[in-house]
Amino acid sequence: MEQGLPQQPHRRFNPLTREWVLVSPHRTQRPWQGQQEARSNSQRPQYDEACYLCPGNSRAGGRKNPQFNGTFVFTNDFSALLPATGESISLDDPLFSAQSESGICKVICFSPRHDLSVPYMDLEDVSAVVRVWIEEYKAFRKMDSIAYAQIFENKGQIMGCSNPHPHCQIWASADLPYVVTQEQSSQGAYLEQYGTPMLVDYVNRELEQKIRVVYENEYFVVVVPFWAVWPYETMILPKSHHRSIAEFGPDETMAFADAYKTLTLTYDHVFACEFPYTAGIHQAPTTAGNHDAWQMHMHFYPPLLRSATVKKFMVGYEMLATPQRDITAESAAETLRRALSLSR
Ligand code: ZN
Repeated sequence: MEQGLPQQPHRRFNPLTREWVLVSPHRTQRPWQGQQEARSNSQRPQYDEACYLCPGNSRAGGRKNPQFNGTFVFTNDFSALLPATGESISLDDPLFSAQSESGICKVICFSPRHDLSVPYMDLEDVSAVVRVWIEEYKAFRKMDSIAYAQIFENKGQIMGCSNPHPHCQIWASADLPYVVTQEQSSQGAYLEQYGTPMLVDYVNRELEQKIRVVYENEYFVVVVPFWAVWPYETMILPKSHHRSIAEFGPDETMAFADAYKTLTLTYDHVFACEFPYTAGIHQAPTTAGNHDAWQMHMHFYPPLLRSATVKKFMVGYEMLATPQRDITAESAAETLRRALSLSR
């Protein structure tokens, strides 16, 4: 396969979502030159009195943050999901169908420092963030009203992130979100057909081929997925079967933090800027059941294409027909490996 990757336009199948991406390698043969763009805006202060996530400051809802030293978790003052009220909506009509959705939205500050981001935090502090995710995931598993806990990070204004203070969110819902149901049914069908979890097989194949692997440590692999849509899209995947982050031991927690920190530091060296992205963990639902088909993984979707300011847009053909990319997953992986060596 690694020899036979076509140089003419072709389409690739995403076995997780069962969608296709159109790849047009002939359109950009241009090599990456490690473009130097101005570093983002200016240096941020360590503390910003106007930031609603800094220690001791008041949030928009009027509540005051404690003087936290490490991570800090609170329920979002403007949650998109609210706990069930008892009154439920159920419109059962082929054309006008709707149902109640309930849940809990939390915000997790990674650090009291307004100016830090994951790549520049100490590894120990990044692993403290991963430990909070594990605790929160386990807590949601104990709630009958929650089926899924979506952990995600929006970084950078370009991704609509309203505050540069390092943080992520968890939206926990009573039902499985749409993308999660797709990935669940794809992984379930694969396990049924082949007897092994899809993403365990996938990681082994990527480790054999090595062409799309960006980084690996003892327990995790960072890869540009074969079916990537965004120019520098990546996934962090475990080398062995882990249905959720609750299955991480202390060594795996540290290794996962290392992969997260290393990847985001690598990203910052691609265009010499603070690299924006949306990232998030997909894993087993928090409901009972064995969920054996699931392999936990973290997706990274960065929008930048050619420089700190040139973003990929999903417009035209992509909005109406299918996503398309020019830079192949293989050349993106090569660029990321070079950026990784620059970051060292
Ligand atoms: Zn996924």
